[in-house]
Amino acid sequence: MNIRYWNRELETIDRSSLEKYQLENLKETVSWALKTPFYKKRLGEAGISSSDDIKKLSDIKKIPFTTKDDLRSAYPYGLLALPKEEVVRLHASSGTTGTPTVIYHSQRDLDRWTELVSRSVTMIGCGKGDVFQNMMTYGLFTGGIGLHYGAEKAGLLVIPVSSGNTKRQFKFMKDFQTTFVHATPSYMLHLYSKIEEEGFKLSDFNLKKSMGGAEPHSEDMRKKIESLFNIDMYNNYGLSEMNGPCVATECVYKDDMHIWEDSFYLEMINPDTLEESGEGESGELVISTLRRQATPLLRYRTRDLSVINPQPCRCGRTHRRISRIKGRTDDMLIINGVNVFPSQIEEIIMKMPEIGTNYLIAIEKSGALDKLTVKTEVGPDIFSDDARDLNALRHRIKDNIKAAISISPNVELHEPGVLPVHEGKAKRVIDDRKND
Ligand code: ADP
Ligand code: ZN
Repeated sequence: MNIRYWNRELETIDRSSLEKYQLENLKETVSWALKTPFYKKRLGEAGISSSDDIKKLSDIKKIPFTTKDDLRSAYPYGLLALPKEEVVRLHASSGTTGTPTVIYHSQRDLDRWTELVSRSVTMIGCGKGDVFQNMMTYGLFTGGIGLHYGAEKAGLLVIPVSSGNTKRQFKFMKDFQTTFVHATPSYMLHLYSKIEEEGFKLSDFNLKKSMGGAEPHSEDMRKKIESLFNIDMYNNYGLSEMNGPCVATECVYKDDMHIWEDSFYLEMINPDTLEESGEGESGELVISTLRRQATPLLRYRTRDLSVINPQPCRCGRTHRRISRIKGRTDDMLIINGVNVFPSQIEEIIMKMPEIGTNYLIAIEKSGALDKLTVKTEVGPDIFSDDARDLNALRHRIKDNIKAAISISPNVELHEPGVLPVHEGKAKRVIDDRKND
């Protein structure tokens, strides 16, 4: 029997009904997966030849993990579970670092994704009457088009402006009195730094909320963006392998992100031992699609590090929450033998009010040792201050970073607008050691 729920019911469904629903969808996903050449072989090797081999949710553990490399090796059609004529869209990674990965969607898959986005946007209080400027890139990247249809479905007036062209962003924000934007945190900071230069004032705008993700950012960066624009900003996690944005979103309480467990089965592992992480322990998110037919993915290793928060949420939704993404397993830097995540450095500098809106982390070899340099922009007035004050600030940044990560960096202070800006995801680390 196929259990059906209305969207609203699904958000607050009790856990045992949710698990029944998940099991039913997992079984269906396994039967779709068996239609792909990739999983037919992979599941066959694990002794799974039909959905009847999955009797309870924990049977998912019989299934081997799927990795990004698997997706690449299955390019272009190895993971397609439907006849090509039933597929209506594909999204692919850029492929600049190797073979691209590709995810196919049937119309039903797109409808389901739209439903999740609509649910997420509604959850943060957006709806009819909101003017939504979608500043994420439209195209193969899922950030732009991914939010688009769900926001329309939720009744928002959508302006598909895409990324870049800051002046036009401001003009539209002013002329259409935009109330809600979707942008990366780094782009929000960049926008703020350009308001005056482009001839606008904050009071020209009517912005109330933003939704942002696509790149790691700290709680302090969120707070900074919220106070600069005087808005509420909501964290949104997604990855193209799991459709794109709105896999997990914060509700109005902004206390971790609800992952939509009716559509995604969540596991957490220790990336070194591949053992399941204990409750409250940090680990790598492993996600299975539960409702996507054209490209089912089972136990996909996201490489994203987070913590599951199983506590009930004040909003009444029963879908568990995941913490802000700390970084990716492949983001971790080893500097003179010490493990460092760029997010640890960001957390420190964003707490310091003198720091501006952009920063960069550079690592190079200096003899046998690694040299870490943290470059940050500071407010324009700081440069007119006494040179001694600048030096004192530089030392304070250095000491704070050293106290947190046990490495003493060089610190460079720059005037606003000097460090590179990215329209899509920010590239904050330049590791020159790899070029040696
Ligand atoms: P790529 O893998 O090429 O970066 P995606 O656009 O699919 O392409 O990016 C997904 C990744 O972006 C996630 O796996 C995660 O590392 C990062 N990401 C997405 N949303 C967030 C977020 N809210 N916080 C931190 N990182 C995020
Ligand atoms: Zn909530």
